[in-house]
Amino acid sequence: MQTYDLVVIGGGPGGYVAAIRAAQLGMSVACVEGRGSLGGTCLNVGCIPSKTLLTSSAKYAELSHLTAHGISIEGAQLNLPAMMARKDKIVGDLTKGIAFLFKKNGIDLVEGWASIPAPGRVDVSDKGGSRTLGAKNILIATGSEPTPLPGLEIDGTDILNSTDALALDSVPERLVVVGAGVIGLELGQVWSRLGANVTVVEYLDRILPGTDGEIAKLAQRALSKRGLQFQLGRKVLGVEKGPDGLTLTLERLGRDIHEALDADKVLVAVGRRPVTRGLGLDALGVALDDRGFVTVDSAYLTSVPGIYAIGDCVPGPMLAHKAEEDGVACVEALAGGQGHADYTTVPSVVYTDPEVASVGQTEEALKEAGVAYISGKFTFMANSRARSTGETDGAVKVLATQDGALLGAHIVGAHGGDLIAELVLAMTKGVSIKEVAGACHAHPAMGEAVKEACLDALGRAIHA
Ligand code: FAD
Ligand code: NAD
Repeated sequence: MQTYDLVVIGGGPGGYVAAIRAAQLGMSVACVEGRGSLGGTCLNVGCIPSKTLLTSSAKYAELSHLTAHGISIEGAQLNLPAMMARKDKIVGDLTKGIAFLFKKNGIDLVEGWASIPAPGRVDVSDKGGSRTLGAKNILIATGSEPTPLPGLEIDGTDILNSTDALALDSVPERLVVVGAGVIGLELGQVWSRLGANVTVVEYLDRILPGTDGEIAKLAQRALSKRGLQFQLGRKVLGVEKGPDGLTLTLERLGRDIHEALDADKVLVAVGRRPVTRGLGLDALGVALDDRGFVTVDSAYLTSVPGIYAIGDCVPGPMLAHKAEEDGVACVEALAGGQGHADYTTVPSVVYTDPEVASVGQTEEALKEAGVAYISGKFTFMANSRARSTGETDGAVKVLATQDGALLGAHIVGAHGGDLIAELVLAMTKGVSIKEVAGACHAHPAMGEAVKEACLDALGRAIHA
């Protein structure tokens, strides 16, 4: 039996980044992955295929909006198989790239499904049989999977999860998306742009829970303008299959009203849950919280010595970059360093058009906590770059202490996911809104809206 300094279970952004960093720090490392390729949810069925389709579908949709720029295009055609093949190639190339990085860093990739029979041991089984690895330390990075919704069993044909919705072979005429969260909006917009009539049904009376309320409202308005339809405050009771497609029964919450909604396909996107089954955590005594996430301390140690956990399977934002931060912090601490991940400055980006990007606290959270704050806002309508590109929907909003320390920043607008980086850096390094406002921003650029939002909070916006 070969014994490693570290055996990582799961080759997603948490696991593969932790494996590479551990190898850089001189540890002998094996990474066990069962899905047949590295990169986890993110590269295989998450971030990368969804962003690839968002980009391709945006290019297709843009063709019909170019008349405002004085350009007309006749006969543009969608070749969905080619679009899907491009996505699959990008995914394949990236996952192979990680296998290359493993080789370069001397990491052993062990293909198969892992379990932990005892601390210090990892069993791996695949079609070819099973083997046991010795491990001075074990890192659980097994990620997450879609949360099922009772009454809407996923069949992969009519009732879809996110993985199915990334690989449809034709554009559905009517797509109902259950859940106005990140996945529902991103994939809903992909299919809407490609020609589907998309209705998003959401339990709450708002979209994107957890996002600043004002920003979520602006996002909803812009997404509606681009074709998404919303039915908020509704619970899906069930679905019936008939000769003309599917019929969902919805209940309007707070009112005793039932409604019918027809669809050809339904995408269920009501959240994700941690994956820990089959690892043997119960028998080992590894504690889980009441939602099934692995409980860890600030050094990512579980309740059992020598067993650590990171990424989507532990509490915190379920984001690839957060999983990566976890992985690096965990193995740096293991190597005797100062591993630390700061969850208060983890940005989140919804890659719709317009993008919705956030870092830090929302205005609602500050009010609820009774924190005194000042706020500033600048709309892209008043930004000359946005006017020239035609991307005028949305705004930048900053929230800060009276002294100007950033408490939160929220953007809805084109390139919001890139613009937020400046404010993440400012928050992380304690740069005040006065200092951000004092930095020279290129003209004409969307980034000037960031500067103006900070100026607005100080009562000094120039172009508002
Ligand atoms: P995962 O990526 O889930 O990887 C875990 C890996 O462990 C999997 O490959 C799994 O096969 C393997 N595994 C599980 N159990 C075992 C076992 N017993 N033995 C061996 N292997 C095992 N996040 C973003 O930040 N940006 C985005 O744009 C974004 N887009 C997304 C789009 C979609 C459609 C989805 C579904 C998710 C998206 N996410 C995005 C979330 C992101 O994918 C996850 O937060 C991220 O992948 C979590 O990384 P992880 O390493 O913790 O787990
Ligand atoms: P989510 O938590 O973002 O949204 C789920 C939505 O479904 C919520 O609005 C919730 O109120 C609603 N909902 C729950 N039960 C419902 C019901 N019975 N009927 C109607 N609506 C219901 O979850 P998601 O969109 O599935 O995404 C899962 C995770 O994946 C998220 O945590 C997200 O961070 C991650 N992700 C990130 C990105 C990104 O960073 N761009 C993209 C995709 C996914």
